[in-house]
Amino acid sequence: MAKIMAVNAGSSSIKFQLLDMPAETLIASGVMERIGTKDANGNAQEGIFTLKYNKNGEKVKEETNPMLPDHAVGVELLLKTLVEKNIVKELTEITGVGHRVVQGGEYFKDSALIDGPDGTVVNKILELADLAPLHNKAHVVGMRAFFKALPGVPEVAVFDTTFHQTMAEEAYMYATPYEWYTKYGIRKYGAHGTSHKYVSQRTAELINKPLEDTKIIVCHLGNGASISAVKGGKCVDTSMGLTPLEGIPMGTRSGNLDPTALQVVAKHEGLTLDDLLNTLNKKSGLLGMGGRTNDARDVTKGMNEGDHRCIMAFNVQSKRIADYIASYYVYMGGCDAIAFTAGMGENLTHLREKILNRLGVLGVVIDKEANDKAYGVEAKISTPESKIQCWVVPTNEEVMIARDVVRVGNVK
Ligand code: ADP
Repeated sequence: MAKIMAVNAGSSSIKFQLLDMPAETLIASGVMERIGTKDANGNAQEGIFTLKYNKNGEKVKEETNPMLPDHAVGVELLLKTLVEKNIVKELTEITGVGHRVVQGGEYFKDSALIDGPDGTVVNKILELADLAPLHNKAHVVGMRAFFKALPGVPEVAVFDTTFHQTMAEEAYMYATPYEWYTKYGIRKYGAHGTSHKYVSQRTAELINKPLEDTKIIVCHLGNGASISAVKGGKCVDTSMGLTPLEGIPMGTRSGNLDPTALQVVAKHEGLTLDDLLNTLNKKSGLLGMGGRTNDARDVTKGMNEGDHRCIMAFNVQSKRIADYIASYYVYMGGCDAIAFTAGMGENLTHLREKILNRLGVLGVVIDKEANDKAYGVEAKISTPESKIQCWVVPTNEEVMIARDVVRVGNVK
């Protein structure tokens, strides 16, 4: 059996899961945070290392505060800790590493075996950093740290964008000057592809239909949120665009808007385009509209207190989600199932209810009791009369990454 490490490296963090394959069972998971963090005087700060695993048959969560000056130190410590705690007997048990990569552009149509810390794959990922500056560079730092710590172990890059590469030109092109596309790659790439792929495949199993014959709409509603239309197992449209800013309103992101708004605000407040994009990415969405936090639980609290802005934020978000589902229903010529996943999709019962009630005209009938009970578990939430089956399907991006390490890395 292979033990595969699924890694999501960010600029100051490394999230990881160690999985047993092909059983797909979780051995350990955790995160290293505050890597390379310094205070205002430039002094190095302590990091946070959280590790969850089974100790003598019991689930434990341990947190320590080591110094984590860079990713390489973090990875060394992680691997050393796995051996010390007897989670693996020796590091040779780890036979593959998979890295989540946010942007693969048009170049990566599938996951890719990484040909070394300075090879063509790494260089291509860095070249694509224009489209995801913070993310892609951080992923490469993570890859290099693992090459150093586990020499000779195959590493595979799994891109958030590859699942959306099957979109037709009519779905991915913007109506901007064509040269923007040919010169700068301006088009829709989408995101959360690994999740959309997992959830659409799992939903096909749950509705008991061959994937090739299915039309499924996946709503990945987390802090970042996107919707995909998946026909015959292939993505035909998705709500995120060149970057994850496009689409529905999210925790802190605005989703779609008329770009002229930027000109008006820039003129009045003397802001740059960078400032404004920062506001659209970090201070908009539920946070901007509702005025509380980006967390849907705080918006819900506000709604229960009768706060108009929270009620408005919820209504705007649910309307825009329903709009996307309806348009994908038309684009695919029908729909067998709508699947909800990620933090809000798996847990926010009243959001699912509001969205599905808005879709009554398509023959959607929610099973209110089943919906109210479905928290973070697979569950059917539509009645037998519903023309479209509706499901909660918890996502599992790490399993998809591990599967691709086995397939693309030819790991035994
Ligand atoms: P991301 O991976 O994009 O950071 P998640 O999928 O973890 O996001 O989703 C986070 C969001 O999901 C939170 O901001 C919160 O709004 C919502 N969420 C998570 N758990 C719950 C819950 N138990 N009840 C309601 N909302 C929840």
